[in-house]
Amino acid sequence: MKQIDSYDFNGKKAIVRVDFNVPLNDQFEITDDTRIRAAIPTLKKVLEGGGALIIMSHLGRPKGPAEKFSLKHILARVSQYLGVPVQFAPDCQKADEQAAALKPGEVLVLENLRFYAEEEGKPRGLAEDATDEEKKAAKAAVKESQKAFTKKLASYADCYINDAFGTAHRAHASTALIAKYFPNDKMFGYLMEGEIRAIDNVLKNAQHPFTAIIGGSKVSSKLEVLKNLVTKVDNLIIGGGMGYTFIKAEGGAIGNSLHEDELIPDALEIMQRAKQLGVNISLSVQTRVADDFSNDANVKVVPSHEIPEGWQGMDAGEKSIENWRKIILDSKTILWNGPVGVFEMPTFATGTLKIAEALAEATAKGAYTLVGGGDSVAAVNQMGYADKVSYVSTGGGAMLEAIEGKDLPGIAAIRED
Ligand code: AMP
Repeated sequence: MKQIDSYDFNGKKAIVRVDFNVPLNDQFEITDDTRIRAAIPTLKKVLEGGGALIIMSHLGRPKGPAEKFSLKHILARVSQYLGVPVQFAPDCQKADEQAAALKPGEVLVLENLRFYAEEEGKPRGLAEDATDEEKKAAKAAVKESQKAFTKKLASYADCYINDAFGTAHRAHASTALIAKYFPNDKMFGYLMEGEIRAIDNVLKNAQHPFTAIIGGSKVSSKLEVLKNLVTKVDNLIIGGGMGYTFIKAEGGAIGNSLHEDELIPDALEIMQRAKQLGVNISLSVQTRVADDFSNDANVKVVPSHEIPEGWQGMDAGEKSIENWRKIILDSKTILWNGPVGVFEMPTFATGTLKIAEALAEATAKGAYTLVGGGDSVAAVNQMGYADKVSYVSTGGGAMLEAIEGKDLPGIAAIRED
């Protein structure tokens, strides 16, 4: 693999996989352009180095060509940030002439890759009553045509850059398969480099004490994350809705709190493993409970192991936060994924806000802090702490899979020879 910083783009055409999967409103206006802004340093590097750009992305989950999912809606914004006009190829498989005509400094955006089933390599339009044989044949057919699809994309350019961390956990044509056509000219973009460095900082090169704070709604969606982290951290703080399954596993009374009975054996196994490894698992000791899942419900504060029937845990209580704050401030590496309460409701946002505050404080004291995955990212952004932690990941699912300890196909495809 090559490094974007030292690669000579002069006179070359770079095909860059970005994640321009931005939210659009009913008038097809962009409502949040964070993902576009995140890719601009990589795109500018190519242009400033004397190269031409072919930009490719997906948008939404189309089942075929659809106006609603057209990347033409984002062209003006890309052009604005790059400061140059942007051309558009309305079919990503028929851009030969436009790509060939590109001159240094010029930019071509390909239409949504997912207008073709070949991008994801999954068959479309299968009858509901399709037999296993038919499903297998359809899958084999799309895998076969995926080769030509990928080769066509590769034919437009001299080098390939992957800067789409949001899809790095997918082995799609543009995120992984295309890399093999550029054995000596493939590299990560700056966003990907940053994300990979952040993952390595916590999973490979963590300074100890290393603390992970895992919250959110369900144990089932983060079981692999917990199993992997328990082998790496010194402290594992488990909060939010998922904490109640652990509290119930310990024999606590959790009232009507969210929990998953079928995951109690897994919770016990994780706690047992932690004991063997000398890892401190810290559960909530005090909870703010409500008599309804509503911002306006009646609220009281009770010990987390003694939640009365008819009441449910909605946020961490002050004593829990105080415990967690101490652990966080004593740590040198901190990973946070998932809110510790129903932070979307202002009445129950305090715990999550206090975690964000403690992370900011720890960062100021020199700790490395990574906020990764979905709702905790939304929480730090919403609370204005994004620039007070070391790194805020842009990729929800991709970051979670990385924390599970999986090799992400988008990363592996660039790294392997
Ligand atoms: P996740 O996507 O798994 O990170 O979960 C995030 C969601 O967990 C948010 O929508 C929170 O409202 C929710 N959550 C956090 N704590 C609780 C709780 N005590 N009860 C119910 N939902 C919760």
